[in-house]
Amino acid sequence: MFPIEKIRSEFPILKTKVYNKPYVYFDNAATTQKPMQVIRAITDYYEKENCNIHRGMHYLSVKATEAYEESRSVVRDFINADKSSEIIFTRGTTESINLVADSFGKKFISEGDEVIISVMEHHSNFVPWQQMCLERKAKLKFIPLLEDGSLDMKAFREMITEKTRLVAVSHISNVLGTVNPMKEIIVHAHQSDIPVLIDGAQAVAHLTVDVQDLDADFYCFSGHKMYAPMGIGILYGKEKWLEELPPYQMGGEMIKDVYFDHTVFNELPFKFEAGTPNVEGVMGLRAAINYMNDLGMDKIGAWQHELLLYATSKLNEIEGIKIFGTTANKICLISFLIHNIHPYDAGLIIDKMGIAVRTGHHCAEPLMEYLNIPGTIRASFTFYNTKEEIDRLVVAIEKAKEMLF
Ligand code: PLP
Repeated sequence: MFPIEKIRSEFPILKTKVYNKPYVYFDNAATTQKPMQVIRAITDYYEKENCNIHRGMHYLSVKATEAYEESRSVVRDFINADKSSEIIFTRGTTESINLVADSFGKKFISEGDEVIISVMEHHSNFVPWQQMCLERKAKLKFIPLLEDGSLDMKAFREMITEKTRLVAVSHISNVLGTVNPMKEIIVHAHQSDIPVLIDGAQAVAHLTVDVQDLDADFYCFSGHKMYAPMGIGILYGKEKWLEELPPYQMGGEMIKDVYFDHTVFNELPFKFEAGTPNVEGVMGLRAAINYMNDLGMDKIGAWQHELLLYATSKLNEIEGIKIFGTTANKICLISFLIHNIHPYDAGLIIDKMGIAVRTGHHCAEPLMEYLNIPGTIRASFTFYNTKEEIDRLVVAIEKAKEMLF
């Protein structure tokens, strides 16, 4: 039995009422709620350890530095990286991808080169590549989709040329829920010595991620989508790539020695961590990883899958509903439209029923253009959600339909 009641009691925000109704939170793909264990880790840090790290010789500074570096090892184990020095703390997925696009672009991309992404990418894994390619006069190519919202792998295989320098694809689509065949993509790209960056923003809260097993060159994710605070995230990079890339930002900590006319940069991972980092965020991230590990990623995955099956069958019973992303290999996230009702109108009524869903383009405007729709309503579930909450969503959708269609 999944200990759902105990888990729910650990997330204080789930006790909130909106419009006098118990709050149903189905916007987990945007950000997850935080358990007491994470909230406490942050307040504990400020109450007992707060100091700047890597700088002071005094007692608490050393303690805070140790806790920060231990957390790096916890992240390394979480994604099974080979070395802690391959784990860079960033502000989140967006910053991690910008770092690689900027540094990799400067070093390895020139006129006429090609970068491959897919049409399903979040703007965070789209705009940095688009802008870098525009600046460097390189070509950005897009893997198309099949009807069910999976990547057209045949098209992808035909896309690689001797000019391809990098492939950057999301592990899981934040709009369609599709889990992409990353291993297959990586094996194929590596046959031509092309590195692969994975946008793992939606994956880390749903799958056990093993960067060595994937053989990923870069893997990016955000803490706030996996029960940790906002403003903290990870860039994993294989040592050989991180050694080659130039630093992204300049300042304190990323230097070894500074002279009037030049600077010697620090070793990994500090070369990419300029300035005072988000230490409280790192403490929260460590607590979130421990929380997920204690629950067990297998158990989390099994409950999330049960919710997906339940919600899919219930939503499919609603007349006039169209679900986008129907492959079997998807996470518990459902994007849909009802007849020709605009998603914003439906979203407003669903909100008034006390249910938080996301409406709009979900930071994937090119995908909306590709699908020829204005946006979708997205319900994204996680392990603290229940089947009763899904039943309430069905009632709310029926109500929206009754009022708007
Ligand atoms: N990539 C995907 C697939 C996402 O879903 C998101 C956020 O929704 C991001 C990237 C950006 O994440 P962040 O805003 O935490 O940097």
